[in-house]
Amino acid sequence: MLNLILCGPPGSGKGTQAAKLVEKYKLIHISTGDLFRREKKSNSLIWQEVQNHINKGELAPDSITFKLLKAEMDNTPDAVGFIFDGFPRNVNQAELLDKFLKEEENTSVSILLELQVPDKVIIDRILERGKTSGRVDDQKESIVQNRIDIYQSETAPVASYYEQFGKTKRLNGVGTMDEVFGRLSDELDAIRSLS
Ligand code: ADP
Repeated sequence: MLNLILCGPPGSGKGTQAAKLVEKYKLIHISTGDLFRREKKSNSLIWQEVQNHINKGELAPDSITFKLLKAEMDNTPDAVGFIFDGFPRNVNQAELLDKFLKEEENTSVSILLELQVPDKVIIDRILERGKTSGRVDDQKESIVQNRIDIYQSETAPVASYYEQFGKTKRLNGVGTMDEVFGRLSDELDAIRSLS
């Protein structure tokens, strides 16, 4: 299996790139942000539990996030691999994921690709998206800044965590969609040719 963690600050283009990667590599895309937005649509009990966190730009509790992720993975028993987008968001989630992949799927994380984009670019992109996305967390600069701060303090350490296993690659996330896609594809082709 090829299991990719697509990492990067909010608004770094993970969702857009994941869609292109799915087409090329036939991987299953799991975005925990999308899973939560699905809960929001049905106004489920899970949504009611997490909405305060999410609307303020904070992380949802790990236990709930992980439960949603596992249920989604169980839906696709024949997957040739996964793209994890927006997960793991902290080192605890990374450890939960590693344990689950090893013990229940007999596989592991293949690579973590981090898209690096300067804060200023991100804030502009997200506030622009907020005009049409309907996402409460996309509309106020202070909330966007909070998400960036949490990325730095909690999620950037996930890239360092996988670095100790030689699995982390950091890429320039600024450029056209196709340029960024080319950089990501080069890395994936390189590890595929090794396996
Ligand atoms: P972004 O646009 O910031 O990349 P996402 O769409 O991935 O955000 O997620 C939106 C929100 O959902 C996050 O700000 C967070 O509150 C919550 N969320 C998503 N993934 C996770 C996760 N792995 N752990 C905890 N909370 C999460």
